[in-house]
Amino acid sequence: MLRIGDFEIHSVINGTMRLDGGAMFGVVPKVLWQRKQDVDELNRILLATRTLIALNRRAGAVILVDTGTGSKWPADEADRYGIAPSPVAVDDRLRDLGLQVADVTDVIVTHLHFDHNGGVTDWADAEKSHTRLHYPKARHWMHRRHWEHAHRPTLKDRASFLARDYAALEAPGALTFIERKEDRAPCEGISWFVSDGHTRAQLLPVFHGDGGPLIFTGDVIPTAAHLPVPWVMAYDLEPLVTMREKEAIYARCRREGLKLAFPHDPHIAGVELEPGADKPIIARTLEL
Ligand SMILES: [Zn+2]
Repeated sequence: MLRIGDFEIHSVINGTMRLDGGAMFGVVPKVLWQRKQDVDELNRILLATRTLIALNRRAGAVILVDTGTGSKWPADEADRYGIAPSPVAVDDRLRDLGLQVADVTDVIVTHLHFDHNGGVTDWADAEKSHTRLHYPKARHWMHRRHWEHAHRPTLKDRASFLARDYAALEAPGALTFIERKEDRAPCEGISWFVSDGHTRAQLLPVFHGDGGPLIFTGDVIPTAAHLPVPWVMAYDLEPLVTMREKEAIYARCRREGLKLAFPHDPHIAGVELEPGADKPIIARTLEL
Protein backbone atom coordinates (compact mmCIF):
# COMPACT_ATOMS: atom_id res chain seq x y z
CA MET A 1 0.00 0.00 0.00
CA LEU A 2 1.18 3.49 -0.84
CA ARG A 3 -0.24 6.54 0.90
CA ILE A 4 -0.66 9.70 -1.16
CA GLY A 5 -2.37 12.47 0.77
CA ASP A 6 -5.77 11.13 1.76
CA PHE A 7 -5.50 8.15 -0.62
CA GLU A 8 -4.48 4.58 0.22
CA ILE A 9 -3.39 3.08 -3.09
CA HIS A 10 -3.23 -0.67 -3.78
CA SER A 11 -2.30 -2.40 -7.04
CA VAL A 12 -4.09 -5.76 -7.38
CA ILE A 13 -3.27 -8.34 -10.05
CA ASN A 14 -6.70 -9.42 -11.27
CA GLY A 15 -5.38 -11.93 -13.81
CA THR A 16 -2.64 -12.72 -16.29
CA MET A 17 -2.49 -13.09 -20.04
CA ARG A 18 0.01 -13.69 -22.81
CA LEU A 19 0.32 -11.42 -25.83
CA ASP A 20 2.68 -11.61 -28.76
CA GLY A 21 6.04 -10.19 -27.72
CA GLY A 22 6.62 -8.57 -31.10
CA ALA A 23 3.29 -6.75 -30.91
CA MET A 24 4.04 -5.61 -27.36
CA PHE A 25 7.31 -3.95 -28.36
CA GLY A 26 6.57 -2.63 -31.86
CA VAL A 27 9.75 -2.03 -33.84
CA VAL A 28 12.10 -3.06 -31.01
CA PRO A 29 13.89 -6.29 -32.08
CA LYS A 30 13.42 -9.44 -30.05
CA VAL A 31 17.15 -9.65 -29.25
CA LEU A 32 16.62 -6.52 -27.15
CA TRP A 33 13.26 -7.18 -25.49
CA GLN A 34 13.55 -10.92 -24.83
CA ARG A 35 16.18 -10.51 -22.10
CA LYS A 36 13.68 -9.20 -19.60
CA GLN A 37 10.65 -11.25 -20.63
CA ASP A 38 9.05 -14.60 -19.87
CA VAL A 39 8.50 -15.82 -23.48
CA ASP A 40 6.52 -18.98 -24.32
CA GLU A 41 6.84 -21.28 -27.37
CA LEU A 42 4.28 -19.13 -29.24
CA ASN A 43 6.43 -16.02 -28.73
CA ARG A 44 3.94 -14.65 -26.19
CA ILE A 45 5.10 -12.77 -23.11
CA LEU A 46 3.59 -12.93 -19.65
CA LEU A 47 1.57 -9.88 -18.66
CA ALA A 48 -0.48 -9.08 -15.60
CA THR A 49 -3.73 -7.17 -15.70
CA ARG A 50 -3.97 -4.85 -12.72
CA THR A 51 -6.63 -2.86 -10.91
CA LEU A 52 -5.66 0.13 -8.81
CA ILE A 53 -7.75 0.53 -5.68
CA ALA A 54 -7.71 4.10 -4.33
CA LEU A 55 -9.41 4.51 -0.97
CA ASN A 56 -10.15 7.94 0.37
CA ARG A 57 -11.94 7.32 3.64
CA ARG A 58 -12.18 11.02 4.45
CA ALA A 59 -14.09 11.66 1.20
CA GLY A 60 -15.99 8.36 1.47
CA ALA A 61 -14.59 7.31 -1.90
CA VAL A 62 -13.75 3.74 -2.91
CA ILE A 63 -12.31 4.06 -6.39
CA LEU A 64 -11.20 1.33 -8.80
CA VAL A 65 -9.10 2.03 -11.87
CA ASP A 66 -9.72 -0.69 -14.49
CA THR A 67 -11.28 -4.08 -13.79
CA GLY A 68 -9.27 -6.58 -15.84
CA THR A 69 -10.38 -9.26 -18.27
CA GLY A 70 -13.39 -10.28 -16.17
CA SER A 71 -15.49 -13.42 -15.90
CA LYS A 72 -17.13 -13.83 -19.33
CA TRP A 73 -14.43 -15.61 -21.37
CA PRO A 74 -15.26 -18.73 -23.43
CA ALA A 75 -12.40 -21.23 -23.05
CA ASP A 76 -11.26 -21.08 -26.69
CA GLU A 77 -10.97 -17.29 -26.73
CA ALA A 78 -9.24 -17.24 -23.35
CA ASP A 79 -6.76 -19.77 -24.67
CA ARG A 80 -5.82 -17.57 -27.64
CA TYR A 81 -4.61 -14.81 -25.36
CA GLY A 82 -3.50 -17.07 -22.49
CA ILE A 83 -6.06 -15.29 -20.37
CA ALA A 84 -6.21 -16.55 -16.79
CA PRO A 85 -8.50 -14.15 -14.95
CA SER A 86 -8.87 -14.02 -11.19
CA PRO A 87 -12.10 -12.06 -11.18
CA VAL A 88 -12.42 -12.37 -7.40
CA ALA A 89 -8.97 -10.93 -6.64
CA VAL A 90 -10.14 -7.33 -6.38
CA ASP A 91 -13.23 -8.20 -4.37
CA ASP A 92 -11.08 -10.31 -2.03
CA ARG A 93 -8.74 -7.37 -1.49
CA LEU A 94 -11.70 -5.09 -0.85
CA ARG A 95 -12.88 -7.57 1.79
CA ASP A 96 -9.43 -7.51 3.42
CA LEU A 97 -9.84 -3.74 3.60
CA GLY A 98 -13.21 -4.12 5.33
CA LEU A 99 -15.21 -3.29 2.19
CA GLN A 100 -17.69 -5.00 -0.11
CA VAL A 101 -18.54 -4.82 -3.81
CA ALA A 102 -21.48 -2.57 -3.00
CA ASP A 103 -19.14 -0.08 -1.30
CA VAL A 104 -17.31 0.77 -4.53
CA THR A 105 -18.30 4.35 -5.33
CA ASP A 106 -16.39 4.88 -8.58
CA VAL A 107 -14.88 2.84 -11.41
CA ILE A 108 -12.50 4.71 -13.70
CA VAL A 109 -12.64 3.00 -17.10
CA THR A 110 -9.35 4.08 -18.67
CA HIS A 111 -10.44 2.51 -21.97
CA LEU A 112 -12.64 -0.35 -23.12
CA HIS A 113 -10.05 -2.80 -24.50
CA PHE A 114 -10.98 -6.24 -23.21
CA ASP A 115 -7.85 -6.61 -21.08
CA HIS A 116 -8.67 -3.45 -19.13
CA ASN A 117 -12.41 -3.48 -18.52
CA GLY A 118 -13.94 -6.86 -19.27
CA GLY A 119 -14.51 -6.94 -15.52
CA VAL A 120 -16.99 -4.08 -15.59
CA THR A 121 -19.72 -6.63 -16.33
CA ASP A 122 -20.66 -10.26 -15.66
CA TRP A 123 -23.17 -12.54 -17.35
CA ALA A 124 -26.50 -11.94 -15.65
CA ASP A 125 -27.98 -15.38 -16.40
CA ALA A 126 -26.93 -18.96 -17.09
CA GLU A 127 -27.89 -18.61 -20.79
CA LYS A 128 -25.41 -15.72 -21.12
CA SER A 129 -28.10 -13.67 -22.83
CA HIS A 130 -27.26 -10.38 -21.15
CA THR A 131 -24.86 -8.78 -18.70
CA ARG A 132 -25.03 -6.72 -15.56
CA LEU A 133 -22.62 -4.32 -13.93
CA HIS A 134 -20.23 -5.95 -11.46
CA TYR A 135 -20.14 -2.79 -9.32
CA PRO A 136 -23.80 -1.76 -9.51
CA LYS A 137 -23.65 1.21 -7.16
CA ALA A 138 -20.54 2.81 -8.68
CA ARG A 139 -20.32 5.76 -11.02
CA HIS A 140 -18.41 4.62 -14.12
CA TRP A 141 -16.08 7.30 -15.48
CA MET A 142 -14.97 7.40 -19.09
CA HIS A 143 -13.89 9.97 -21.65
CA ARG A 144 -16.75 10.73 -24.03
CA ARG A 145 -14.51 10.57 -27.09
CA HIS A 146 -13.40 7.09 -26.08
CA TRP A 147 -17.00 5.90 -25.76
CA GLU A 148 -17.69 7.23 -29.27
CA HIS A 149 -14.53 5.58 -30.60
CA ALA A 150 -15.47 2.23 -29.04
CA HIS A 151 -18.67 2.30 -31.12
CA ARG A 152 -16.79 2.88 -34.37
CA PRO A 153 -13.23 1.63 -33.86
CA THR A 154 -10.70 1.48 -36.65
CA LEU A 155 -9.96 -1.70 -38.60
CA LYS A 156 -6.73 -1.88 -36.60
CA ASP A 157 -8.20 -1.92 -33.10
CA ARG A 158 -11.71 -3.30 -33.45
CA ALA A 159 -10.65 -6.75 -32.16
CA SER A 160 -9.80 -5.13 -28.82
CA PHE A 161 -13.41 -4.10 -28.20
CA LEU A 162 -15.99 -6.72 -27.16
CA ALA A 163 -19.57 -5.49 -27.08
CA ARG A 164 -20.40 -7.99 -24.33
CA ASP A 165 -18.04 -6.08 -22.03
CA TYR A 166 -19.93 -2.84 -22.08
CA ALA A 167 -23.48 -3.43 -23.25
CA ALA A 168 -24.65 -2.78 -19.68
CA LEU A 169 -23.00 0.65 -19.82
CA GLU A 170 -25.36 1.66 -22.63
CA ALA A 171 -28.16 2.24 -20.11
CA PRO A 172 -28.95 5.94 -19.70
CA GLY A 173 -26.99 7.40 -16.78
CA ALA A 174 -24.69 4.41 -16.37
CA LEU A 175 -21.65 6.45 -17.46
CA THR A 176 -20.21 9.67 -16.10
CA PHE A 177 -18.45 11.29 -19.02
CA ILE A 178 -15.31 13.39 -19.01
CA GLU A 179 -14.99 15.73 -21.95
CA ARG A 180 -12.02 17.92 -20.98
CA LYS A 181 -9.10 17.18 -18.71
CA GLU A 182 -10.27 20.03 -16.46
CA ASP A 183 -13.57 18.22 -15.77
CA ARG A 184 -14.43 17.02 -12.28
CA ALA A 185 -13.17 13.73 -10.86
CA PRO A 186 -14.59 11.26 -8.30
CA CYS A 187 -13.18 13.36 -5.42
CA GLU A 188 -10.71 16.08 -4.53
CA GLY A 189 -7.08 15.22 -5.21
CA ILE A 190 -7.55 13.54 -8.63
CA SER A 191 -6.74 15.12 -11.98
CA TRP A 192 -6.86 13.63 -15.47
CA PHE A 193 -4.22 12.84 -18.10
CA VAL A 194 -5.92 12.18 -21.43
CA SER A 195 -3.92 10.10 -23.91
CA ASP A 196 -4.52 9.68 -27.65
CA GLY A 197 -1.55 7.51 -28.68
CA HIS A 198 -2.67 3.98 -27.79
CA THR A 199 -6.37 4.54 -28.43
CA ARG A 200 -8.63 7.58 -28.58
CA ALA A 201 -9.00 9.47 -25.29
CA GLN A 202 -7.64 7.00 -22.78
CA LEU A 203 -8.52 8.45 -19.34
CA LEU A 204 -5.68 8.21 -16.82
CA PRO A 205 -6.05 9.44 -13.24
CA VAL A 206 -3.33 11.30 -11.34
CA PHE A 207 -3.55 11.15 -7.53
CA HIS A 208 -2.26 14.17 -5.62
CA GLY A 209 -1.17 14.78 -2.04
CA ASP A 210 1.79 14.25 0.27
CA GLY A 211 3.94 11.42 -1.10
CA GLY A 212 2.63 11.95 -4.64
CA PRO A 213 1.64 12.61 -7.26
CA LEU A 214 1.10 9.20 -8.86
CA ILE A 215 -0.26 8.41 -12.35
CA PHE A 216 -1.83 5.15 -13.49
CA THR A 217 0.09 4.95 -16.76
CA GLY A 218 -2.41 2.79 -18.66
CA ASP A 219 -1.25 1.61 -22.06
CA VAL A 220 1.00 4.65 -22.50
CA ILE A 221 3.59 2.76 -20.39
CA PRO A 222 2.16 -0.74 -19.88
CA THR A 223 5.16 -2.27 -18.06
CA ALA A 224 8.54 -1.20 -16.67
CA ALA A 225 10.14 -2.64 -19.82
CA HIS A 226 8.25 0.02 -21.81
CA LEU A 227 9.95 2.92 -20.03
CA PRO A 228 12.31 3.85 -22.92
CA VAL A 229 10.49 6.39 -25.08
CA PRO A 230 10.67 4.45 -28.41
CA TRP A 231 9.58 1.14 -26.80
CA VAL A 232 5.90 1.47 -27.74
CA MET A 233 3.40 -1.19 -28.71
CA ALA A 234 2.51 -2.13 -32.30
CA TYR A 235 -1.13 -1.97 -31.09
CA ASP A 236 -0.93 1.83 -30.72
CA LEU A 237 -3.04 3.83 -33.17
CA GLU A 238 -0.53 6.71 -33.10
CA PRO A 239 2.89 5.51 -31.87
CA LEU A 240 4.51 8.94 -32.28
CA VAL A 241 1.79 10.45 -30.10
CA THR A 242 2.47 7.78 -27.44
CA MET A 243 6.16 8.76 -27.52
CA ARG A 244 5.32 12.45 -27.00
CA GLU A 245 2.97 11.52 -24.16
CA LYS A 246 5.71 9.48 -22.48
CA GLU A 247 8.04 12.48 -22.75
CA ALA A 248 5.35 14.69 -21.19
CA ILE A 249 4.99 12.22 -18.31
CA TYR A 250 8.77 12.08 -17.76
CA ALA A 251 8.95 15.88 -17.74
CA ARG A 252 6.45 15.77 -14.87
CA CYS A 253 8.52 13.08 -13.13
CA ARG A 254 11.48 15.49 -13.18
CA ARG A 255 9.42 18.57 -12.29
CA GLU A 256 6.87 17.22 -9.78
CA GLY A 257 8.31 13.87 -8.71
CA LEU A 258 5.42 12.13 -10.48
CA LYS A 259 5.39 8.39 -9.66
CA LEU A 260 4.21 5.69 -12.08
CA ALA A 261 1.79 2.76 -11.52
CA PHE A 262 1.75 0.23 -14.38
CA PRO A 263 -1.28 -1.74 -15.64
CA HIS A 264 0.48 -4.82 -17.08
CA ASP A 265 3.80 -5.47 -15.35
CA PRO A 266 3.70 -8.97 -13.79
CA HIS A 267 6.34 -8.10 -11.16
CA ILE A 268 6.62 -4.33 -10.72
CA ALA A 269 3.50 -2.45 -9.60
CA GLY A 270 5.07 0.96 -9.95
CA VAL A 271 8.27 2.99 -9.86
CA GLU A 272 9.80 6.31 -9.01
CA LEU A 273 12.33 7.60 -11.57
CA GLU A 274 15.70 9.24 -11.02
CA PRO A 275 14.77 12.92 -10.94
CA GLY A 276 18.06 14.19 -12.35
CA ALA A 277 18.37 11.79 -15.31
CA ASP A 278 17.49 12.87 -18.84
CA LYS A 279 16.07 9.42 -19.64
CA PRO A 280 13.79 7.18 -17.58
CA ILE A 281 15.92 5.31 -15.03
CA ILE A 282 14.23 3.50 -12.13
CA ALA A 283 15.29 5.01 -8.79
CA ARG A 284 13.15 2.61 -6.75
CA THR A 285 10.16 0.35 -7.11
CA LEU A 286 6.96 1.19 -5.25
CA GLU A 287 5.16 -1.02 -2.73
CA LEU A 288 1.62 -0.76 -3.99
ZN1 LIG B 1 -3.63 -3.03 -22.12
